[in-house]
Amino acid sequence: MERLAGAKRIVVKVGTSTLTYETGLVNIRRIEQLVKVLSDLANSGREIIFVTSGAISVGAGKLRLAQKPKDTPGRQAAAAVGQSELMHLYDNLFTSYNHNVAQVLLTKDVVDDELRRKNVVNTFNRLLGYRAIPIVNENDTVAVDELEGDHFGDNDTLSAVVATLVDADVLVILSDFDGLFDDNPRKNKDAKLIPTVARVDSYIESVAKGSGSSRGTGGMATKIQAAKILEAAGIDMAIIRGSSPELLYDLTEGKHVGTFFDFRN
Ligand code: GLU
Repeated sequence: MERLAGAKRIVVKVGTSTLTYETGLVNIRRIEQLVKVLSDLANSGREIIFVTSGAISVGAGKLRLAQKPKDTPGRQAAAAVGQSELMHLYDNLFTSYNHNVAQVLLTKDVVDDELRRKNVVNTFNRLLGYRAIPIVNENDTVAVDELEGDHFGDNDTLSAVVATLVDADVLVILSDFDGLFDDNPRKNKDAKLIPTVARVDSYIESVAKGSGSSRGTGGMATKIQAAKILEAAGIDMAIIRGSSPELLYDLTEGKHVGTFFDFRN
């Protein structure tokens, strides 16, 4: 993990359950802390690409729906409301630290197509060249869950794909937990944190049983899917606790926090 002290291009992924309360409304304090840390890291010369979830949940909260819609038009409508609310918030907060943000909404068909993928890569690189902070989500308003293969489905996978597109030094996933455990820490109090993963083998896959909350999509299974993509690409990954955004400072100082997926070895 000492290597991360030298990480220049960092993709940070944050999920719905870190960004929102049970009510579905945004956790303003958490988002403010996170934006402050990311702005500071950008000030220190790092390139930050921020992958955010929360569009559907924040949209449903803003529309005062009792719960997240389950049908496709409902989810897509909620995402349209929530995405602009999220960007409004991020834009205001990052601007207060003198950073420009850029909204990048991706769909799977775009990155699966060679030419369109190349255009996305060029745009990312130009944004980073302009020192703007790309804020990425799936374009939920047009991505249809029902079509297999047409949809990233979860932002853990999306963030791993983004890390490969920008050839990041590391993907940092902010989680509900301190990292990857050898058993589900919600159910087993004796579950132990796995500090380092050198290879995604059948043991690692077996400990990553689904543990998502009702607001988020992920859980550890999708994080391990993300890890597989990065292992193939030789890009490091870390899972750290999202409720303490300051841990990003420790990580970028090369201290060991959470679970480190050591894929450049
Ligand atoms: N793109 C979805 C949203 O913004 C979230 C997907 C995920 O939770 O991984 O609501």
